[in-house]
Order: sequence, then C-alpha cells, then structure tokens
Amino acid sequence: MKKIIAMMMALMLVLTGIAVFTACDGGEENKGSTETTTAAATTEPAENEAPKVLKMATNAYFQPYEFYKDGKIVGIDAEIAAAIAEKLGMTLEIVDMEFDSIITAVNEGSVDFGMAGMTVTEDRLKEVDFSTSYANGKQVIIVKEDSPITTADDLFAEGAAYKVGVQLGTTGDIYATGDFGAENVTTYSNGNEAVLALLGGSVDCVIIDNEPAKALVAANAGLKVLDTAYANEDYAICIKKGNTELLDAINNAIKELTADGTIDAIIAKYIK
Ligand code: GLN
Repeated sequence: MKKIIAMMMALMLVLTGIAVFTACDGGEENKGSTETTTAAATTEPAENEAPKVLKMATNAYFQPYEFYKDGKIVGIDAEIAAAIAEKLGMTLEIVDMEFDSIITAVNEGSVDFGMAGMTVTEDRLKEVDFSTSYANGKQVIIVKEDSPITTADDLFAEGAAYKVGVQLGTTGDIYATGDFGAENVTTYSNGNEAVLALLGGSVDCVIIDNEPAKALVAANAGLKVLDTAYANEDYAICIKKGNTELLDAINNAIKELTADGTIDAIIAKYIK
C-alpha cells in the first residue's frame, strides 16, 4: 500500500512539473489556455518533436482570400489560418483542391479544416460545423461593359433567359441554379474559367463573390461588376462535425485575433 501511495505521489510530482513547465512556456496570459485546448484536440507532440501540422483545404484561385504568389499560396485566409495555427502551437500546411472537394476532404479527415471564402449555408451546416464568421462576403454579377444586364433585377425580368456562369459548388452556383434553372447555369472549376467563358460569349454573366470579382475584372479588360449585389453572406472555417475540441480551439483563436486587431489588419492589407 505504501508503495502505491509513494508511486502516486511521484506521479503527481511529475504532473505538477509538467503543468509548471507548460505555464512558463505559455508566455502571455491567454496563450496557456489556448495551448491546453489544442493539446486536448490533438496528440501531444513528444519533447523536441517538430510542431504538429494543421492541414487546411482550400481552392487557391480566389483572390484576395487565397491565390498563388511566387509559387506560394497567400491571401486573407492563408494569413488568418497561419495566425490561428500559431496560436495553437502548430504549423500550417495548405492543401489546394477543387472548391467542391473541400467538405469531403474535411469529413474524410485528410485535412483538419476547410477555409476558402466559404459561405455558411443551411445545407452545408448539415454536413460540417462552421467556426465563428471571420469575414462578410457578397455574391455579385460580372458582365461585359456593353451588356444589356444592368442590375440584378434584369436577370429576373419576365422572359429573360440569360446564361449564367458560376464556379461549381459555390453559393453562386447553388442560388443561380435555384433562381434560373440548371439549364441556364454553366459551372466552371474556378472564377477565371467562368470569366473566360463570359469574354468568349458562352455565358451572359458570371455570379461570384465580390472580392474575386473585382480581381477578375481588374485582370480582364471589357468587364464590370454590377452595383447591385445578388446575395449577402458570411465566411467561416468548416470543421468535421463533432470535432468540437478543434472547433473550440479555432473559435478561441478567432476571438483573440479579432480582439487584438490581427484579423482586421490582415483583411485591410488585401482589401483597400
Ligand atoms: N463564398 C462562396 C461559397 O462558399 C464561394 C467560395 C469559393 O469559391 N472559394 O460557395
């Protein structure tokens, strides 16, 4: 019996040692609690082991949220995700894939979360959990400069049967298919392809998120974004349903990064 008590006391001493070590390691006050959450959400790396990797799925053709610059994926989402990973004491790895594959990858567990200017929708909430929203978005309409379409209402006019280009699986795709019928909607794997189709005359307009729309119009002469928005939405990070520890850790990080102005500063760097 004595032996068991002695062993338990030794164990407690070791555990207290670890707790003290972690507390010292934490630096600022808040950091300690975030790290504790992270440790619970993931397997604790052994001492001297490289930091654990946090894998993010995205579709890197969505400027200014995620896009390639000098062969590297950069942008608002990439930077916010890196800041979140840092808060969790992890290294961020970004996996580029079709937008349409992100939720599947999250649910299969080949990535830890998806971040791709992804709108929170009722249907997606049935498949995945979403973090707190970190940005607003809106769906807008890109047309050729001389287009007869001048407002969002023109698309709904009696007898109008405009051909709409969208990015597969996006809210632009979902809403336009609902409003105008699949026969009037052509899906492309990214916004750039949709805009090329608009320039080539195979569609009359492209419905896509506002910021990528601005970037696409700036990069292609003869196009404009209509002033009237088609829909307003919130962007958030998607996480496998039930992975509440990671969800809580990410929400905590978003809260801290919002409070200290980091998220606003990242957004302001890319959206003037
Ligand atoms: N916000 C849109 C959506 O969630 C588009 C996102 C994207 O194309 N990356 O569907």
